Amino acid sequence: MNDDTRIIIFRNRLLGGVDAAYAERAAAMYAAASTMPGFVASADFVADDGERLTIIEFDSPERLRKWRVHEQHRASMATGRRDWYAGYRLTVCAPLRESSFERAADGKDLPPINKGPLPTVDAEGGCACGALRYRVRGQGVASTLCHCEDCRRACGATPVGWLTVARTDYALVRGTPKQRRSSPPVLRDFCGDCGAQILYASDDEPEYVDVTLGSLDDPNVAPPRAHIWTRSKAEWVHLRDELWRFSRGLRDGAKED
Ligand SMILES: [Zn+2]
Ligand SMILES: [Zn+2]
Repeated sequence: MNDDTRIIIFRNRLLGGVDAAYAERAAAMYAAASTMPGFVASADFVADDGERLTIIEFDSPERLRKWRVHEQHRASMATGRRDWYAGYRLTVCAPLRESSFERAADGKDLPPINKGPLPTVDAEGGCACGALRYRVRGQGVASTLCHCEDCRRACGATPVGWLTVARTDYALVRGTPKQRRSSPPVLRDFCGDCGAQILYASDDEPEYVDVTLGSLDDPNVAPPRAHIWTRSKAEWVHLRDELWRFSRGLRDGAKED
């Protein structure tokens, strides 16, 4: 038996006059299933000839099994055989191959906030005590909210906003930052007096640097467009905005599923 068995296809026909009672129970069952751990999706269709089709998907065979033995679910199936179904066919299956297409991935159907190039900025920023001052001038390359552990620990806050610009568009105009390597390619500049994080640079991408959005005098010059490293997100951060979400870095291009 294939160990990825996690999809149920349920085809049925109802007896006459039971549609309302069936619909009410089906809605209750959908609510029950959709709040179970591992629930992925469910969809219901009714064909012109009256045949009904329900597809329900869980993320693992174990969680599918929990649904199969769910008490309310079993009771509903028994009621259905007694009162509602003229007949049904149930198929429990494992995917052989899966692929997907998402229109939004090519940028055409994204909310307006994510469309178009980032603004050109001419802005200054600095640390909390003023010992460090910098200027950024040029086209923004990316503006993100990072949920990674390195940023969280470096700033003692999460998420951390970053504006990516060409390295040549960044200039330190006052002070000398302290620097720390948070991982082999990454160098983070911060103020040795007040501790504010200012700059992120990576040897892997020497042509860019990131300034913290929070250190800009006006943090609104380039609003963030994406959440990144959401796989490390604190559970109490609830994302209810329209920004893109990436489970890892922006360059990986792996949008959240
Ligand atoms: Zn400072
Ligand atoms: Zn980060």
